[in-house]
Amino acid sequence: MDKKTTNSKVLIIGGGVTGLSTAVNLDMLGIDSIIIEKTSEMGGKVKEYSRIFPDFRSGKNIIQELIDKVKQSSRIKPVVSTFITSVERINGTYSVLASNNKKYNVRAIILACGFEVFNARLQEEYGYGVYPNVINSLELESMLSADEEGILLRPSDGKPAKRMAIVFCVGSRSKRLGNPYCSRICCSYSTKQAIEIMERIPDASVTCFYIDIRTYDRGFEEMYQYAQELGVKYVRGRVSECSALPNGDIHVRAENTLLGNPVQGIFDIVSLSVGMMPCADADNLAKLLSIERSEDGFFTRKDSFLSPHDTVREGIFLAGSLTGLKPIKDCLLEGMSVSSRITAYLGKNK
Ligand SMILES: Cc1cc2nc3c(=O)[nH]c(=O)nc-3n(C[C@H](O)[C@H](O)[C@H](O)COP(=O)(O)OP(=O)(O)OC[C@H]3O[C@@H](n4cnc5c(N)ncnc54)[C@H](O)[C@@H]3O)c2cc1C
Ligand code: SF4
Repeated sequence: MDKKTTNSKVLIIGGGVTGLSTAVNLDMLGIDSIIIEKTSEMGGKVKEYSRIFPDFRSGKNIIQELIDKVKQSSRIKPVVSTFITSVERINGTYSVLASNNKKYNVRAIILACGFEVFNARLQEEYGYGVYPNVINSLELESMLSADEEGILLRPSDGKPAKRMAIVFCVGSRSKRLGNPYCSRICCSYSTKQAIEIMERIPDASVTCFYIDIRTYDRGFEEMYQYAQELGVKYVRGRVSECSALPNGDIHVRAENTLLGNPVQGIFDIVSLSVGMMPCADADNLAKLLSIERSEDGFFTRKDSFLSPHDTVREGIFLAGSLTGLKPIKDCLLEGMSVSSRITAYLGKNK
């Protein structure tokens, strides 16, 4: 065997919470796997989250636990800073070339490449990328995560931020922007962020501008009620414009669609709760693997009811947020369910 060739049963593309959960569950079933992650670190988005809804446990700790299990296993080979460049199927084995000049021979591939957040620059009326104190929700998450007990500082001048606005539905539910779908979890993560701010900074004020509140899962509605008990204000209305004042404050104009009157306010930081889009490499990966995507760009399952992990191509499977937006616990569950699907597939195709 060429020394640059590695044989394994399964190749997982993407080392986020889904990819890690998949490898750990395959390991428990006695199946070896390789995880190919394109960035320099495993963990995907969740490694940046200090508190996650609905129960406010640490996202970083969940990732650390999974990474520890990966390190302890002799069956899992994590490979970072690498992406796949070609895929060929010969006699039931996939031969995958990667950017590290290695060849991986595997019997099944699981794609777990996740999602990207909407580029808020495309909604120019909010001034994202122009005004430093207009940030997106991932940036707010990093600020909350960097100093888990501390105050929030304004990006423009480092002053403590107390007046916060959170704008829901940025880049989602818009035919104009090409994303007609609801991103499903941003009402919940935004509410979680509002709670974190109120709990940390007792004299803070948080105003959420929303279109509808969609807190659909167990514990989510209770979290929304708790936010209101803490004093988070929910204003039903679409923000029409954000503009910066000379001192860096952000002036927000909106229409209260419940009362039918215009509303405005001055804030230290405005966070845009951006929706979720298919992962940046989706097009390339779909071509390399010869699998299909839906009109909205997310990957298509063979049958979303009866074969939720299968694709149209034998031996290539999907897991996690690449088929649509999901909370972390659903991604962890998909890691488990795709592993049992793979066990059945490998058993049948011995
Ligand atoms: C601001 C924000 C806050 C959130 N808060 C919560 C919360 O509190 N609770 C909750 O349940 N959910 C929350 N979520 C949702 C959570 O982020 C997702 O459920 C989770 O990240 C999905 O995991 P994933 O592994 O499918 O995708 P990702 O986390 O996107 O991981 C995908 C991985 O694949 C890698 N990758 C991509 N392309 C390639 C390629 N070509 N080759 C190799 N690797 C590749 C990426 O680098 C990444 O490491 C939040 C989301 C956002 C945006
Ligand atoms: S989950 Fe909430 S914020 Fe996100 S797109 Fe749907 S309605 Fe808008």
